[in-house]
Amino acid sequence: MKHSMYNIVIPLTRDGVLVYNGLSGALAKLTPEEYRKYLKLSFGEADKELVENLKRGMFIVPEDFNELEYIIQRYEKIKEDTSRLGLVIAPTMKCNLGCIYCYQNREKFDEYSLMNEKVQTELVNFVETIVKINNVRTLEVLWYGGEPLLGLPVIKNLTEKFMRIGERFNVNYSGGMVTNATLITPKIAEELYKLKIRTFQITLDGDRETHDKKRIYKNGSGTFDRIIEAIKILSSYKGVSIVIRVNVDTEVVRNFEKLLDILENEGLKEKIRIYFSKLEKYEHSSSTWGCYIENTKDYSKLEIRLYEKLIERGFMLNIYPFPRYLPCGAVRKYGNICIDPEGYLYKCWHEIGIVEKSVGHVSSGFNENVGRWIITYTPFDFEDCRGCGLLPVCMGGCPLRAMESKKECIPLTGSIEEYLKMTYMYKTRGARDM
Ligand code: SF4
Ligand code: SF4
Repeated sequence: MKHSMYNIVIPLTRDGVLVYNGLSGALAKLTPEEYRKYLKLSFGEADKELVENLKRGMFIVPEDFNELEYIIQRYEKIKEDTSRLGLVIAPTMKCNLGCIYCYQNREKFDEYSLMNEKVQTELVNFVETIVKINNVRTLEVLWYGGEPLLGLPVIKNLTEKFMRIGERFNVNYSGGMVTNATLITPKIAEELYKLKIRTFQITLDGDRETHDKKRIYKNGSGTFDRIIEAIKILSSYKGVSIVIRVNVDTEVVRNFEKLLDILENEGLKEKIRIYFSKLEKYEHSSSTWGCYIENTKDYSKLEIRLYEKLIERGFMLNIYPFPRYLPCGAVRKYGNICIDPEGYLYKCWHEIGIVEKSVGHVSSGFNENVGRWIITYTPFDFEDCRGCGLLPVCMGGCPLRAMESKKECIPLTGSIEEYLKMTYMYKTRGARDM
């Protein structure tokens, strides 16, 4: 036996260590005695259970087990999986907001019209063909934009057709939406529920004052109160999951407690899950906003502090560092197929609407540009990733950034130990030996 190269050991202040394995995603607490045996790989008769657990968690693996090869084979196998079809559909590229940091080219995108009936029919045919040829079992649709709710009639029409395909070919259908939430009323929420949309990703960029400087209507007024109202409406539905994305900058960090106070006072604490992302400055973002956090290491430390604050205040988190089999769905042929209102296909939602980046059209299928995503790109071409202890958790990071020669390690690299300690603290709520 040998130790896995994907073990991360974190000493605890009082007794023993935490060990995390990236291949299996297991997190174990070992006593000092157990840790000594683990270190020396020396176990006695009485340690059968310990050895079994260490094997199950892949903390110890057979001498001849090639872990990198295992990850590569798993990656190739999942990439070839055609039983799941994942679509990201933008019924419109228009948006009713004028957020200062938006990465989309608003001047250009606001001229787009809604997806017309011809494109909708071509899209339904495109989906039906893939479902039939590949024996697809799961169809997942994420509604995206612009603001997808500006295209609600398109969402209704397409969902009805997709559900019919699901019934005819015995395919499980599910829907989600990335929305700014400003258009959600009780009536629209009811319609979305009937359309089987069960997950919503909604952005709140800090407390009211901080958010309302950035996520604004085109006339400059703030959206915070409207969004809180929308979250309350959605959260009254059983089985609906609401994920709040907070784009972090220095001002968000400064006023974070105020946001938590509001969410708590509004009774939303147990109805949402929060996650963080670094507020990025893109080509079309405002350059006058002075609160971007440029350094990823600084960001990752701040992110930990924010998660700790959530735990302290009893909010729900989705933070476990599960192993990934792929960096994202874009490298799978039938994963992350993004469709713009004119029917062009893309493999990354950041490219939706930029026709020169398209990888085909719903009327004709994929073109040769799709090859760079599903054939040419592989994280295993990068020496640093091949030798990296976080490879099974990160899988090389964002493929788009890598292909644009802007490859960046995930923020977690700068704070994995603290992150795992925090995860353990969350799982065991209130453990005192941290
Ligand atoms: S991108 Fe960075 S963190 Fe991710 S696997 Fe590669 S070297 Fe590791
Ligand atoms: S931005 Fe990167 S990680 Fe996200 S979908 Fe595009 S390629 Fe994948």
